[in-house]
Amino acid sequence: IKVQEYRPQSFIDFTKEENVTAYQDALKKVRAELVGKHYPMVINGERVDTAEKLTSLNPCDTSEVVGTTAKATIEDAERALQGAWAAFESWKKWDMDARARVLLKAAAILKRRRLEACALMSIEVGKNYAEADVEVAEAIDFLEYYARSAMKYSGFGSSETTWFEGEENGLMSIPLGVGVSISPWNFPCAIFIGMAAAPIVVGNCVIVKPAEDAGLIAGFMVDIMLEAGLPAGVLQFLPGVGREIGEYLTTHAKTRFITFTGSRAVGLHINEVAAKVQPGQKWIKRVIMELGGKDGMIVDETADLDVAVTAAVQGAFGFNGQKCSAMSRLIVVDSVYDDVVNAFVERAGALKVGTGEENANVTAVVNQMSFDKIKGYLEIAPDEGKVLLGGAATGEANGKQGYYVQPTIVGDVKRESRLAQEEIFGPVVSVIRARDWQDALDIANSTEYGLTGGVCSASRERLEQARAEFEVGNLYFNRKITGAIVGVQPFGGYNMSGTDSKAGGPDYLANFMQLKTVTERW
Ligand code: NAD
Repeated sequence: IKVQEYRPQSFIDFTKEENVTAYQDALKKVRAELVGKHYPMVINGERVDTAEKLTSLNPCDTSEVVGTTAKATIEDAERALQGAWAAFESWKKWDMDARARVLLKAAAILKRRRLEACALMSIEVGKNYAEADVEVAEAIDFLEYYARSAMKYSGFGSSETTWFEGEENGLMSIPLGVGVSISPWNFPCAIFIGMAAAPIVVGNCVIVKPAEDAGLIAGFMVDIMLEAGLPAGVLQFLPGVGREIGEYLTTHAKTRFITFTGSRAVGLHINEVAAKVQPGQKWIKRVIMELGGKDGMIVDETADLDVAVTAAVQGAFGFNGQKCSAMSRLIVVDSVYDDVVNAFVERAGALKVGTGEENANVTAVVNQMSFDKIKGYLEIAPDEGKVLLGGAATGEANGKQGYYVQPTIVGDVKRESRLAQEEIFGPVVSVIRARDWQDALDIANSTEYGLTGGVCSASRERLEQARAEFEVGNLYFNRKITGAIVGVQPFGGYNMSGTDSKAGGPDYLANFMQLKTVTERW
């Protein structure tokens, strides 16, 4: 198979009027064709429906139902699992190039439908144009990148072994079997498809369980994978409730692996139940976890203030802070604290709150549960620091009722407080004052998470110290700490942020394979 070298997609420039117009046309098309749509399950290649449905609401205007999906039952989950094992018998024998072609074709279709996918996310989860666009670009990148990565595993002897006289030795990579992929709502296109495409391309079959709040974009992506030619049963689409079918599938004896992206609490629970061997189970389940973060960015006295403040605003408020990589702690060295914080508050204060469709800087958070949770943190904020900007969960913007929370900055937050330690997952930043550089690094590391982190500094020595000692999976210097690009910045955290499996990295596919060494004596 001939392919060009992998290159990440470039992003659409929304300072150009024609691109804004194209986006607005896509919004119209999606409103005409996709809003109000119902996505059934897909089991063994057939669309199957359920009596009960899951409803997707527009978070920026909660009077609007965006669409519905089926709501899978335990019986559906069982059927999907059995069907996937049946499909595995032939899918595992497919040539690696042939499987890679399905991903490449899916990428080509998604490139053509890029703006539709974006527009659907603007309506379903409230992404503004740029946030939606970088996500769809990432989804295309995952497909393109994993297709190419897979090729390096094809055939016998795909990994290096040392020559030994009189024998042929080789290492084969073989798929694991059937797994479950459980994804979050915050990257409902890219993470959803990345977590499905990676195991599939190397020969596994997968049951995909999208997040309850983002079933439509998941259904849209499944349609693309089917159009690209995935055989029946390889990708089983099972929208449903996590603690019902998710729980059933993660505890099931026939589940070989679980790839999960979501909160620390749910992830640790899955890790625990998956570790328990069920009657009839003949493997140790493999569990791949991408969990939360409490990501900090340090600004020291040598930093370029403008660069630091731009990085802080982008990292904190992009998609309303609803990113595992979002900068939720700004750690500033005392001698520049006032300058940095004043500029940060001023810049953040200029952000416009509104809907994803009107391309506001900050939109509504995803659902009532999220809104209530963030509100709870805003209530304790005055006790844990000084509220310098925002501070209210208004539930309204420009006359629209939705899950709106003001961009909020809390200064002088105590380093051990809840605001400084717990993942809030909204547009709320805790600023922490550090005595000096070393104190700032200690504060940055004083969390159980370890996902992203950043340093704004002109000191080579300090950057090198951070390179070695800052405990995160993705570390950024003198830029925002969000926006990892597939293949460029392999992504994933350690400590309580996950198993550091590095999505979009050179070894990611190895998570979904096992190795067999075969020796023949001549
Ligand atoms: P969540 O944990 O609430 O839900 C994630 C998924 O798990 C959903 O599909 C849900 O239905 C399912 N689920 C819930 N209970 C389950 C159970 N008992 N068994 C099986 N499945 C179950 O997370 P969320 O609110 O959708 O997403 C936000 C979280 O995801 C944040 O903590 C964020 O940091 C994290 N996240 C991490 C990364 C990363 O790469 N590390 C990326 C994106 C999001």
